Amino acid sequence: MRALRLHKTDDGIDPRLEDVPEGDLPDGDVLLDVTHSSLNYKDGLAVSGRGKIVRGAFPFVPGIDLAGTVVDGGGSDWAPGDRVILTGWGTGENRWGGYAERARADADHLVRLPDGLSAEDAMWIGTAGLTAMLSVLALEDHSVDAGDGPVAVTGASGGVGSTATALLADAGYAVHAVTGTASAHGYLRALGAAEVVGREALATPPEAPMGRGTWAGAVDSVGGTTLASLLATTKRHGCVAACGLAGGAALETTVFPFILRGVTLAGIDSNTAPPSLRDEAWARLADAVGRGALGAVERTVISLGDVPPWAGRIVDGDTVGRVVVDVR
Ligand code: NDP
Repeated sequence: MRALRLHKTDDGIDPRLEDVPEGDLPDGDVLLDVTHSSLNYKDGLAVSGRGKIVRGAFPFVPGIDLAGTVVDGGGSDWAPGDRVILTGWGTGENRWGGYAERARADADHLVRLPDGLSAEDAMWIGTAGLTAMLSVLALEDHSVDAGDGPVAVTGASGGVGSTATALLADAGYAVHAVTGTASAHGYLRALGAAEVVGREALATPPEAPMGRGTWAGAVDSVGGTTLASLLATTKRHGCVAACGLAGGAALETTVFPFILRGVTLAGIDSNTAPPSLRDEAWARLADAVGRGALGAVERTVISLGDVPPWAGRIVDGDTVGRVVVDVR
């Protein structure tokens, strides 16, 4: 099988497109034909060697998302020909991932590809889109309604942010898309953002423990000071779904937003989201695609060989929307 494998050398990480014996695939009940994968921020860090993402032995096949067809169910409920998605559970981090023509997976980690979605659509959505939908579900669970006021989406031109912007706008929320990319303003409007806000508006630490209550809710893929600012400016009983750290992992805040305004900080982890929640999220994503709600989310399709240069680009913030990898 053809695979993009990462080799560890004295100079760092060396990604090589090579033929790998199928027998080298690590354990897993189900054998899959992989047709598509995607390029996420994490993949960018892994392939460029600019972040310590890979926790498995080298040489290693990265790619945190994959879609394809079951070849052998290995005694599980999956049958040859079933179309499936695999994201999370350490895929592309401690288990071989989607940048190879074949993969092995645990049966209970697979999600059935919903009707109406192609494998390419599923990877256009990928972990980023799943994370966006899990964030939207968290806002809904905390009763953040479209009529409650503006909802902020940070890192808005990225994979998670673009999809969250489109999903929330489609559901009738007034989305304030927060971005540091001047050239993305038109794109964010096309996704349905009611307002586009410069990243610097949230980039300085709040002067007081709480500012004016502005946001009914937020989807934050940036973390750090941005997350602290969002918490300090969220309305009573609002909810901030924290899903990323594109701007920093540290969080310096006070308890005041929580104890004086009843603000909820909802953590989002797509990696270990339970199967029932994944099924719900993918069904909602398939509905959204069916309605054309994600049509404006940029889709770039690249080949396996294109992954190394694109890995550097996504880490540099030089990509817009979602990048699909056609593995065939
Ligand atoms: P992308 O690279 O596609 O998007 C990240 C966006 O964040 C950029 O497009 C940019 O948007 C903004 N950004 C980048 N650097 C900075 C910075 N220094 N300060 C502020 N904003 C910045 O990545 P994804 O959308 O795929 O992932 C976003 C984050 O979510 C990552 O941290 C990722 O690790 C995390 N993640 C978490 C998951 C989970 O399960 N919790 C799953 C998937 C991703 P703009 O220019 O518009 O400001």
